[in-house]
Amino acid sequence: MDFEEAPVRIPTLLLTVIALIAMTAGCQSAYEAEYVSNDSGLDRRNMDETVAPCDDFYKYANGAWLARNEIPADKSSWGISDEMRERNYLLMRDILDESAAAKAAAGTNKQKAGDFWQTGMDTERIEGDGLKPIQADLDRIAAATSTEDVVAFVRDLQREGSNLLFGMGIFQDLKNSEQYIAYAMQGGLGLPDRDYYTRDDEESIELRGKYTAHVSRMLQLLGDDAAAADASAQAILELETRFAEASLTNVELRNPANYYNIKTISEVDQAARNFSWRAFFDHLDLGIDTFSYAHPKFFTEMNEALGDAPLVTWQAYLRWHLVDGYAPYLNDELVNADFDFFSRTLQGTEEMRPRWKRVIDVVSGGLGEALGEVYVERAFPPETKARADEMIENLRSAVRTRLQGLVWMTDETKSKALAKLEAFNSKIGYPDEWRDYSALTIGSESYLANVRAANTFETRRNLNKIGQPIDRNEWGMAPQTINAYYSPLMNEIVFPAAIMQPPFFDGKIDDAVNYGAMGGVIGHEFMHGFDDQGSRFDKDGNMQNWWSDEDRAKFEERTAKLVAQYAGYVAVDELHVNGELTLGENIGDLAGITMSYYALQEALKKDNPGEIDGFTPEQRFFLSWAQAWRRNYRDEAIKLQVNTDPHSPSMFRGNGPLANLPEFAEAWGCTEGDAMVRASDLRAEIW
Ligand SMILES: [Zn+2]
Repeated sequence: MDFEEAPVRIPTLLLTVIALIAMTAGCQSAYEAEYVSNDSGLDRRNMDETVAPCDDFYKYANGAWLARNEIPADKSSWGISDEMRERNYLLMRDILDESAAAKAAAGTNKQKAGDFWQTGMDTERIEGDGLKPIQADLDRIAAATSTEDVVAFVRDLQREGSNLLFGMGIFQDLKNSEQYIAYAMQGGLGLPDRDYYTRDDEESIELRGKYTAHVSRMLQLLGDDAAAADASAQAILELETRFAEASLTNVELRNPANYYNIKTISEVDQAARNFSWRAFFDHLDLGIDTFSYAHPKFFTEMNEALGDAPLVTWQAYLRWHLVDGYAPYLNDELVNADFDFFSRTLQGTEEMRPRWKRVIDVVSGGLGEALGEVYVERAFPPETKARADEMIENLRSAVRTRLQGLVWMTDETKSKALAKLEAFNSKIGYPDEWRDYSALTIGSESYLANVRAANTFETRRNLNKIGQPIDRNEWGMAPQTINAYYSPLMNEIVFPAAIMQPPFFDGKIDDAVNYGAMGGVIGHEFMHGFDDQGSRFDKDGNMQNWWSDEDRAKFEERTAKLVAQYAGYVAVDELHVNGELTLGENIGDLAGITMSYYALQEALKKDNPGEIDGFTPEQRFFLSWAQAWRRNYRDEAIKLQVNTDPHSPSMFRGNGPLANLPEFAEAWGCTEGDAMVRASDLRAEIW
């Protein structure tokens, strides 16, 4: 997952996609071309050789880089993936400028990309329009006279892809991966996670004060007077706190069973007086009888609140969430206020990114594959795809050998694990078939109208899946995304073109370096199929237990050591990493780097270049892994990450897995008692 870009803006539904459907690596890398000078492709000048590798390997590998690289004012953290992203921005800007200059025929992808880009950059028009693009919505909220009017507004916004009040999505049935079903999920919050409402430490209380001040400021920008806006903000906080208290925690949400609660619409409607699910699904044109009513406690509270919270509170709530969702596409006052709270306060970012980069992210989100098609032509040669294919098969082979040799697992469970591995599908670079955008109309008038059209198009595309066969060609990320994912429901690993760039992947450099970075990521994605979540899905993508009780107990005994290890890491001040929330990613890292190590050993049997730059192949491999994680963070950003993100902060991803590996200790001559060697009774060895 691409964490460093304003995670709090991700709506609940997408968080679910990331948590449940697309468990992502969040592991990116790029090299600084001007620095790379050594023969292997590693840069020795990034290292701090005054640090002993057995004390703190991450610092040994990256110390000089960490000291040299300040975080730019418009970033909340800075790592090598950001450099990669900067290169991508330049390429994307060229593509968009050319699209705009082409004056292409109406309805073509080029026209849509060009117009979307131009409306986003037309600040004069956006300023002149002021609140006009949402005025009809505001008028409608003001005219509401009943709960039914509130609910009707929610239905309309949901139809255009907003997760107003709760989350909604169409995914494969967790227990029958051959069909799509609808999921209704908890949501309704303005802060990043339910815990922000329920904690009672001083810092959390202070943050809630800043949040209500922000809500009030936004309501004042909509025209409310200060006293009324303050009162509304307080009422909104109280309402959202009710939702938060009825919500599952992010650790509870790691259990996929907590998304699965199939009910008929009529039985749910009998219990809920104030919200008709029949009317809701009819409004989405979904002729369904059942759905996953995933979080009943939340929906019970939502129903209660629709009955007992005053209409004026609901009106304030709708106004707040409307402007919160659309502020980034409106005038400067709203953009700045939104930035102040969500980027400056929550992430410590000092300055806003330039407008053109923000607009590229939006256009690229709305027209992902239309732009991706051009991106791939320019940035992804066929040789790269062929080499990536080869590396994935080498990793698969290493995983196979390791699984066959596992001593703690019974043969019966092992054979099912192997069957799952053989069934893994992989997607590299870009889709075989490009998405058809012909049903999407993009105009030259209003930026926000284009954003809403793109959201509506995407929502409709998803809703239309109900009743259709599973689309196995679909991609969950566009090719220009610097990331990768594993989907347990599809049982597939997916690597967009943009992540297959140096140094994750470079045909011109040493194998050991390629295996340490890109190989580790490929291994990581493979092993998500066998982490705390992925292991609950079988080879066909169904949530089904294929483990014997004995094997499951042994697995949990082993993963408990990893939970304890990461829970011992202090990220900032007294804030510890959440060992349970990050377990799946940590299993992916530990198992991924292990698998890649053995894949490299196979490659070395065929061709071993020996020492390069004074390092053995094994040493270069581990250096490459640790260097791929180099990143500087602001304190606020690391706090937000620890509180909300299933990925551990970078330094722990660099060091954590290695401290469990005897192979690492051997490569660097570390011994028990060194900080980089976990004591044998604490050491996690899983896959
Ligand atoms: Zn991952």
